[in-house]
Amino acid sequence: MRKKHCHICENEFSTLFRVQYKQPKEWVFVCEHCLLNIKPNNPHYKYGGTWKK
Ligand SMILES: [Zn+2]
Repeated sequence: MRKKHCHICENEFSTLFRVQYKQPKEWVFVCEHCLLNIKPNNPHYKYGGTWKK
């Protein structure tokens, strides 16, 4: 079974969002809740797709 964990809160979700949100730029997977926390007014934010189980 495929599993992924949120890069920030480390909980497991069936849907995650692939984003860059800080320097140095790297792609990480975050949950929707964390996405809404990091997205506002973030010049480093970049969306790279949605991952679903
Ligand atoms: Zn999270």
